[in-house]
Amino acid sequence: MTEGTVSLDQLVSWLSRFRDLVTEQRSYLTELDSAIGDADHGANMTRGMTAVMEKVGASPAGAADELFKSVGMTLVTSVGGASGPLYGTFFLRFGMTAGPHSALDGAALAAALRAGLDGVVARGKAEAGDKTMFDAMSPALDAFDAALGGGIPAAATAAFDAAVKGRDATEPLVARKGRASYLGERSAGHLDPGATSTALLFQALSEVLARE
Ligand code: ADP
Ligand code: MG
Repeated sequence: MTEGTVSLDQLVSWLSRFRDLVTEQRSYLTELDSAIGDADHGANMTRGMTAVMEKVGASPAGAADELFKSVGMTLVTSVGGASGPLYGTFFLRFGMTAGPHSALDGAALAAALRAGLDGVVARGKAEAGDKTMFDAMSPALDAFDAALGGGIPAAATAAFDAAVKGRDATEPLVARKGRASYLGERSAGHLDPGATSTALLFQALSEVLARE
């Protein structure tokens, strides 16, 4: 493996670790969604990421664009909740920007992540403070960019730390997007489920990239 790049195998490991984390925390994610939603976020994420890893195992991709197109399509088609199309769009845009490569350098990874976030915004129109996955993802990417000079593992760790802070900051917020917004003021006082799964996405990235 070339120093300063992320291989296709590592990207697959990222997805696999994310599948493991949402599976381990399925009940917790569902508990969060039962407070301000419809109690299906754990099931949605587990079903989606299990389907993703089955697909990836059955037909391994030769390049990042192919891999993440399949990941995104699988999430969009296998998850009924809002999170399926949102994470699906994240990965579809990630793949389109990553392109037909089998390794990404730090700048390419940062650009792909940013395109993914832009896709989430294009699809869901969330802004900062709306109490959604955006509130974990956006600070994570800003931290990734700011720390990239120290290498990809350091950037991934900084992104995870920022995602956790962003997740925690959703607790007092009143939801303005998604199902939780129907609760109005009563949505305050609970962590956002999607911001919580997004923190797991960056936990997975930091664990996989710090391992090398
Ligand atoms: P559903 O709300 O359809 O039951 P999930 O429970 O799987 O779907 O996912 C809920 C999460 O989706 C929320 O916690 C929030 O983070 C995220 N979400 C909902 N709507 C939006 C949106 N418009 N933009 C960004 N994220 C959103
Ligand atoms: Mg739900």
